[in-house]
Amino acid sequence: MSVIPIVELPATASEIASEIPAASPLRPSLWTAPEYTGTAAALEAKEAALAERLEAIASRFYRARFASSLAAEDMVITDAILRGSAALRAGIRVFTLATGRLHAETLAMLDEVKAHYGYEIERFTPDAEAVENYVRKHGMNAFYDSVELRKECCGIRKVEPLNRALSHADAWLTGQRREQAVTRAELPFEEIDEARGIPKFNPLADWTEAEVWAYLKRHAVPVNALHAKGYPSIGCEPCTRAVRAGEDVRAGRWWWESRDSKECGLHEQNIKH
Ligand code: SF4
Repeated sequence: MSVIPIVELPATASEIASEIPAASPLRPSLWTAPEYTGTAAALEAKEAALAERLEAIASRFYRARFASSLAAEDMVITDAILRGSAALRAGIRVFTLATGRLHAETLAMLDEVKAHYGYEIERFTPDAEAVENYVRKHGMNAFYDSVELRKECCGIRKVEPLNRALSHADAWLTGQRREQAVTRAELPFEEIDEARGIPKFNPLADWTEAEVWAYLKRHAVPVNALHAKGYPSIGCEPCTRAVRAGEDVRAGRWWWESRDSKECGLHEQNIKH
């Protein structure tokens, strides 16, 4: 009688994963921060231009607000503001939209920023009753069902809190870059937010992804731990996934939708451009 050899099977998911070679078709390599190949002088010039832009905004407006997602680009601007002059630090206040669906890694950035800069980023949360009504009517994760339901969720969790955050602002800033998406290809440095009737600034509009990461490294800026897990762009937890190397950097945002609808209502003008 022949003896059937006993084959040891991996017991856990991590053991199974460890048997798949890195970068095999079963485990494609994930996005990683790009290497900067420019010169130090070119980066310094970019940084100086950014500082000038921010100082100019702070001198023109009394109540400018910067909407931070706590992801890489926004940490460049946060760092430039918080290491800038006292007037800059006081003139541009940083806030975030605490949607109630953020990753733990993103929420941890609030403490990181406080520890690093001694600065408390203001949080704006959604109206609890509106969230409750949406969930009761459509379900907790109804945003997967249609673009309309996704936009309704973004409207409640992001746009209405943004409106509140900007209700007394005379200008606002974002960390958007032209390279990030087809909807941002014509992004200007300064535009008019028609809905609110105030200027909106995109001081990193002409920055590349590699320049962003070179800045973060050079100044040892705290970064969201999700970036090291293959997330170039970060939003709410159920609507953001890691992306593969070579994929569009915003491919992980609302990945079930077409590329030209991927804005959350915070930057509606991008769709019109
Ligand atoms: S990103 Fe997703 S969870 Fe967050 S507000 Fe929009 S639809 Fe809702």
